[in-house]
Amino acid sequence: MSQCVLAAAFASNHSSKNKADDTNEHEVNVRACSSTQHSHALVERGTNSKDAANRGPVQAFIAAVPKAELHIHLEGTLEPEMMLELAARNGLPPPYLSAEAARQAYQFKDLQSFLDLYYNGCAVLLTSQDFYDLAWAYFERAASENVKHIELFFDPQTHLERNVPFSTFLPGILDAVTTAKEKLGLNVRLIMCFLRHMSEESAIETLNQAKPFREHLLGVGLDSSEANRPPSLFKRVYGMAKALGLRLVAHAGEEGPAEYVWEAIKDLGVERVDHGIRSLEDTALVTHLEEQRIGITLCPLSNMRLKVFPDEATAARILGKFILETKLLVMLNSDDPAYFGGYLMDNYLFVQRILSLKVEQVARLAKNSFSASFLSDEERQHYHHKIDQVFSEYIKLVSK
Ligand SMILES: [Zn+2]
Repeated sequence: MSQCVLAAAFASNHSSKNKADDTNEHEVNVRACSSTQHSHALVERGTNSKDAANRGPVQAFIAAVPKAELHIHLEGTLEPEMMLELAARNGLPPPYLSAEAARQAYQFKDLQSFLDLYYNGCAVLLTSQDFYDLAWAYFERAASENVKHIELFFDPQTHLERNVPFSTFLPGILDAVTTAKEKLGLNVRLIMCFLRHMSEESAIETLNQAKPFREHLLGVGLDSSEANRPPSLFKRVYGMAKALGLRLVAHAGEEGPAEYVWEAIKDLGVERVDHGIRSLEDTALVTHLEEQRIGITLCPLSNMRLKVFPDEATAARILGKFILETKLLVMLNSDDPAYFGGYLMDNYLFVQRILSLKVEQVARLAKNSFSASFLSDEERQHYHHKIDQVFSEYIKLVSK
């Protein structure tokens, strides 16, 4: 499908570049080329219109190139329309009067102001079918953007404390994962996150409850409020997870200091750092991350919406350092796209625009997304080869 999308996008771009409609060109071509129905997924919602309207060869390449998503929270893909549907289906009062009202409420001043609404939204998720529908909608969307591999976060404690057990939410998610593999060719693995505003005892209890489902889990992560909740508080549960053979990641250095990134590495033993934005404040840490090839999952639109970056100029300065001025293993991700106004494509388009990235630099980000994944070397090489193929196709098309 990739080459089909790329060629069609180029052809369409040539003839319609100046048209004033706001339809995302890559989506039109995905729709034309793919036999899969993406009726829900292709509805453009909340995307940065400046980026959606930005059309050209590099944007077509972004649409076509295979990508991995390593920092995406399942619960953060709950679009307002589905939130209202599930509330009605489950006989709950609607959390918002309309989807539009929900989007208008998504104005955040920091991480905590987002988390308050995020946990509120999760209250509509009650049955296995709810979790299946949520996951499937996201997988369709991801596949339509040529995402090939996902290491998906989910937050068990958010559901357990509402008396929704593993035996309800996990089968729903797993069924969607199986269907995604069969129908979309999409590879999905699951990373269970502990909520850092809760105690380590609660995290340990969650890990114990997850043990019967161990075979379905790739790893563990740490998310939620970072301020004054250093990673070292969770040292014991990470040791237990490691003993179970789970891979280790953690959010660190989003709002918390560079010291929290060090703690995540040294005390928790993480193999990849989520966000890690403030790592740049510590040159010894940057050197360590570079030398050890520890992946950092950047989430640009999340950082904009949560005011980690106060403006685009700051975003360009910081992301430019990560992507263009260091040898850090960084890639782009969407975090909680239903709340932050953009899925993976939107994040690539945003960063491409503010840094004027060349196609080689976009290709490197896409390759990094597989390099920093927990795929085998063989699988990584497979996707790197696919990226090289799309790149070659791009070169042929632009040199015509
Ligand atoms: Zn996150």
